[in-house]
Amino acid sequence: MKYENSKSNLFDVIIVGGGHAGCEAAAASARMGAKTLLLTHDAAKIGEMSCNPAIGGLGKGHLVREIDALDGLMGKIIDKAGIQFRLLNRSKGPAVRGPRAQADRKLYRQAMQDALHDYPNLTIYSFAVEDFILSSDTKKVDGIKTADGQIFTCQSVVLTTGTFLRGLIHIGQQKIPAGRINEAPSMGLSLTLERLGFSLGRLKTGTPPRLEGKTIDWANLTLQEGDTPPLPFSYLTDKITTPQIACHITKTTHLTHEIIQKNIHASPIYSGQIESTGPRYCPSIEDKIVRFGQRESHQIFLEPEGLDDSTIYPNGISTSLPADIQDAFIQTIPGLEKAKIIRHGYAIEYDFVDPRELYPTLATKKVSNLFLAGQINGTTGYEEAAAQGLIAGTNAALCTGNQDKTFTLDRAEAYIGVMIDDLVTLGTTEPYRMFTSRAEYRLSLRADNADRRLTEKGISIGLVGLSRKESFTKKMNDLQKARLLLESFALTPNELKNKGFTINHDGVRRTALEFLSYSDLSMDKLGQIWPELKEIHPIIAEQLEIDAKYSGYLKRQEADIKNYRKDHFFKIPNDLDYFAISSLSNELKQKLSQIKPTTLGAAARIPGITPAALTALLRFARQDRVLSNKNLDDDKKFA
Ligand code: FAD
Repeated sequence: MKYENSKSNLFDVIIVGGGHAGCEAAAASARMGAKTLLLTHDAAKIGEMSCNPAIGGLGKGHLVREIDALDGLMGKIIDKAGIQFRLLNRSKGPAVRGPRAQADRKLYRQAMQDALHDYPNLTIYSFAVEDFILSSDTKKVDGIKTADGQIFTCQSVVLTTGTFLRGLIHIGQQKIPAGRINEAPSMGLSLTLERLGFSLGRLKTGTPPRLEGKTIDWANLTLQEGDTPPLPFSYLTDKITTPQIACHITKTTHLTHEIIQKNIHASPIYSGQIESTGPRYCPSIEDKIVRFGQRESHQIFLEPEGLDDSTIYPNGISTSLPADIQDAFIQTIPGLEKAKIIRHGYAIEYDFVDPRELYPTLATKKVSNLFLAGQINGTTGYEEAAAQGLIAGTNAALCTGNQDKTFTLDRAEAYIGVMIDDLVTLGTTEPYRMFTSRAEYRLSLRADNADRRLTEKGISIGLVGLSRKESFTKKMNDLQKARLLLESFALTPNELKNKGFTINHDGVRRTALEFLSYSDLSMDKLGQIWPELKEIHPIIAEQLEIDAKYSGYLKRQEADIKNYRKDHFFKIPNDLDYFAISSLSNELKQKLSQIKPTTLGAAARIPGITPAALTALLRFARQDRVLSNKNLDDDKKFA
């Protein structure tokens, strides 16, 4: 890998960390035109997948499509590195379908590093960052200091240190300070954040043992094939050309459960050695056995880590039990009787920052021009990290050069907006992951229409490059042409019957576009009546069909979204004196002045806020605006 050796240590934006948040932040900042520096422990590890070699899934797939719609990297990279693509929930409605792909770990890393090297204004160095350079009043960040004493100055910093802040690995009773296995933790930055008064907490996550595929008996295991043809993540990818592989499925047995149960006291989670909370929806095998004792077995997906790599990732048995117990229970699983463990599973505890310390731009409230993104904000998952990185990197670039602009997404625009709003408004006490159920407007926020929701907005702020802009404009034109074509054909129910299709006989003449809203009239069927429709590109045809089938629901949702935006987007001044609102309880005054909600909508979602409190807050904030003559609609700093 070639690194640009810039003589100057002066940058617009510095990104700390080369994980999924760091990569998207660096790329977004560079796309915005900022002179960007990415500093990470080891540049050769950029794009590393710390755990599962897979991207997407339910809710997470939506995030990847949104990142892609804003010209981010993750979708394009997984299209190059994906070795098994599956659309989850295919049989359900389009709103809850989740694209997922398993990755070749090495290909993913390489493709990410290559993509970053395509940005001429992005410099990458391998350094451990130890501290910030702050303004004399410590209210603004001016740069960073590396562990070996070098100083890099800049206008804004994005911190994306993942699981590294005071990271501590657990395998049985063994404790190893580390950010990931065989990688040093980050201690200095935790101390600095603490010194600056940030509220830090501890979370944990875990990973399963890795198996040598050559020692697995594949013969009797259930085969799981991917989709044919594989469906790309990126709107810019026409076709997946990387060879595709199959996975296998096995399951734990009565004996597996017996061994784990007998040795549960040796698990750091149950011995009291780990007190922090882990991801509820991704429990360790010991958690599953304790919590779901009645279950006779748990499924394990055996996922190859690469095309030329015999390592197998056994998805579903993350564990921190001692190594000898892991060796013993693995051998009780069908197909794994003789399997060799290449690397034992482990749990890791790390510091995170209470995300209520952040504005929706992901800027911190305590230190200006300092942004946080990724696992450091209490989330779990590559996609959640990458999506935050994109927002933080964009805003970090926007706050250089005195630009009075910010870039945020709301709950009705994107899953990214839902996630960030949840985090900055409610905080989190367990690793936060995305689900479709978190989005109240999910019929509008589909994975298929992410570009139509977001690309225009990205173009307007300068975040989207020329080739995506051209491809998006062409798609929108094609969509419009196809819509007009459908509107140019019309039949009465009688005429339709003569063509072999029946609808209610009300005598109303309808266009082909209107027919498409009927559940049993598809584009394929309409193509039998009007062969010109067969010329429409399948992606455009699918969009038209989804729009038509959901048009009734979408209209209702549009009205809901309008209402949500009306009052909820009333901006609350950042310096509002909550203690002056006499009708609020002291507890609420304290809560509100700590969280500083930026809008009435954000205030409404704070636990404990009653409708009466909200009315009082609205009245007071309106008065405050009049008295201080504030034009908050122009005050985008805290948007
Ligand atoms: P990371 O990917 O952790 O990247 C952090 C980057 O910052 C690294 O490049 C690091 O070198 C760099 N860095 C840190 N400190 C410094 C410093 N001081 N100076 C310079 N560089 C620094 N997610 C799931 O969804 N499900 C799981 O089951 C799951 N299990 C996991 C198990 C383990 C053991 C680990 C470690 C992670 C697991 N994750 C899991 C989480 C997933 O890896 C993260 O959510 C994701 O990688 C977070 O991305 P990030 O960019 O925030 O941080």
